[in-house]
Amino acid sequence: MNTILTNKIEEIRNNVAEWKKQGLKIGLVPTMGALHRGHESLIKKAKELCDKVIVSVFVNPTQFGPSEDYEKYPRTIETDKEVCKNNNVDIVFAPTVNEMYGNTLNNDQDLSNKSLTFVYPPYNLVDKLCGKTRIGHFDGVATVVLKLLNIVQPDFAFFGQKDAQQLIIIEKMVKDLNVPTKIITCPIIREEDGLALSSRNKYLTTEARKKALTISKSLSYIKELYEKGTNESQILFDSSISILDKSIELEYLEFVDMENLEKIDIINKKTLVAIAAKIDNVRLIDNIIIGKNSL
Ligand code: AMP
Repeated sequence: MNTILTNKIEEIRNNVAEWKKQGLKIGLVPTMGALHRGHESLIKKAKELCDKVIVSVFVNPTQFGPSEDYEKYPRTIETDKEVCKNNNVDIVFAPTVNEMYGNTLNNDQDLSNKSLTFVYPPYNLVDKLCGKTRIGHFDGVATVVLKLLNIVQPDFAFFGQKDAQQLIIIEKMVKDLNVPTKIITCPIIREEDGLALSSRNKYLTTEARKKALTISKSLSYIKELYEKGTNESQILFDSSISILDKSIELEYLEFVDMENLEKIDIINKKTLVAIAAKIDNVRLIDNIIIGKNSL
């Protein structure tokens, strides 16, 4: 099958208009590229539910802070296209920054420029977990996702549970702004040893990867302890923290409500256990869900 690669919004619109005329169901899988099996699982789910699938590949400058890895974020569009082709994706949409934002940004990451309309998700969702250190990140995410949803106007859009806070914020945005797209959540795909797949794993040396593995191990340990009857977050936190490699810079390990991200002390409902940590300066996130009806 012929997978089209385009960087033009107009080409997306023309194809989508044609497909809609034919009554076809359209799926969008937004990504930043450097595709791995995690992304592929989203694509496969999209292929299952939709007649036509568009994968966007866009390293979105407005969601990176000035000291983050925007410049060095892996860009592998040729192999990404192959992955998409192998999964029978209809279109890979890989716009330039200019195609997405025109000349509204002074430079790629200058959010002080006031000539762009932004989406600001509710503060109580963005001031927690990753949002505490990644100031403005979720504003950039919400803005680019809404733009992609407006460009493609898909029936379904697919997101990974791996970025749990992002998912909660997007679901809220879609609901609040009446976006007629159904958001589909896909489970976290892991390496055999438990490490959650991430485009940033590419930065890890063999030694750092070993340390990174202790992130998912600590989450599994929490699940195990919880299933054995410990339901106090503090106890679960204290016991699992010793599993993390000593050189890991822990940003947060929190037990929060799945809807409002408020802290949970006693786990008596579905609870998101989310972690962010830096290993040799590579920032990784992971999470699990525990509590009633968490399976
Ligand atoms: P990214 O390219 O990192 O922006 O991710 C694009 C989409 O893929 C997001 O919805 C992520 O949550 C999802 N994703 C990334 N890694 C994984 C993974 N290991 N398992 C499932 N989904 C993932």
